[in-house]
Amino acid sequence: MNRTANAIVVGGGVIGLSAAWRLARTGRSVALVDPAPASGASHAAAGMLAPLSEVTYTEEPLLRLGLASLERWPRFAAELTADSGLDLDYRAEGTLDVAFGADDLAALDELAAFMDKLGLPVERLTGRECRRLEPMLAPSVRGGLLAGADAWVDPRRVTAALLAALRRLGVPVVRERATELVRDGDTVLGVRLAPPGAPATHPGRVLAGDVILAAGTWSAELANVPVRPIKGQIMRLRSPSPLLGRCVRGVVHGSPVYLVPRGDGELVVGATQEELGFDTRVTAGGLYELLRDARELVPGVTELELAEVVAGLRPGTPDNLPLVGPSRAPGLSLATGHHRGGVLLAPLTAALLQGEEGALAALCSPQRFS
Ligand code: FAD
Repeated sequence: MNRTANAIVVGGGVIGLSAAWRLARTGRSVALVDPAPASGASHAAAGMLAPLSEVTYTEEPLLRLGLASLERWPRFAAELTADSGLDLDYRAEGTLDVAFGADDLAALDELAAFMDKLGLPVERLTGRECRRLEPMLAPSVRGGLLAGADAWVDPRRVTAALLAALRRLGVPVVRERATELVRDGDTVLGVRLAPPGAPATHPGRVLAGDVILAAGTWSAELANVPVRPIKGQIMRLRSPSPLLGRCVRGVVHGSPVYLVPRGDGELVVGATQEELGFDTRVTAGGLYELLRDARELVPGVTELELAEVVAGLRPGTPDNLPLVGPSRAPGLSLATGHHRGGVLLAPLTAALLQGEEGALAALCSPQRFS
């Protein structure tokens, strides 16, 4: 057995990379295993850091996690920028939720009251006030709710920065696939690896150490983890200058749609939610739905250049809360199941794995399902 690292992070999406970076920063010996780092859901994600506008009334625990992680983001971003030398396009100008009809307006009123009760800062706006903030909004927008504390980031820049920071810290990134957890009874001793494309009969080599399983929705292939893929199709448009100043969301034809502006003029339009197993095909219907709904919010989007459409698989759990912390098996911790909020929850997840934020740990404990 090859004992090169005392922590092995399996999976190099935003969660695994963040965990490995924060651990390495504390001086812990770490290796990261992924045949194609940053190629999973993190590659598709819009990067909204929006616990307030993502929440529903039944999801107060998720809101608590989201708010705790949002609070950590400014420092996380500053330290990552310093460690990597790369900019993340981190911005904190808030999210504007807009409404068209009487039902939408009533829903925003209810949401505002819920936020007030929790002492969270939101501002109710008229249609005219919304358009003053965002002149490209449709004239039919009748009102809005500004969650001024929400932020956003470019997830592709974040994963590139995390990989650069790991390189600078000397953390090995092993571009192989973990094929199984190596166990002695219940105890996990390490992982068996195989090069990408190797046949199933490949004997593989074993890397020994404490395992942090962060393979997103694929975590279930390696351990008994209740995660399932939830497909999201998402579109990237390009304009010479930014069309919006902040994230804009709304419910159109009964489905939520959002637009996330980047500093370089990219506008991200997302996202579908589909339960189709491990299917990452981009469909004509998905693309149609996104464009149709985005045009209702901001008619000018149809003038923009279509840069990309991709589909990613969110790792969903039965209660929509992530699985972070020690499992029942000694030597195995989990960091998966972040569903719609893995980018937002990355700083908190890394902190939880280091034993910080004890009060929130129980909400994410993997042992709640065993
Ligand atoms: P992933 O990014 O999927 O990474 C898993 C990694 O594991 C991959 O790199 C894969 O190669 C690797 N892997 C798989 N199997 C193995 C193996 N056997 N051995 C080694 N490595 C393996 N979240 C937000 O916070 N804000 C948003 O605005 C947002 N928008 C989204 C929009 C869309 C369309 C989608 C799909 C998701 C969005 N999310 C958003 C959710 C977010 O993307 C996920 O929660 C997050 O990316 C999960 O990160 P992860 O590292 O757990 O998984």
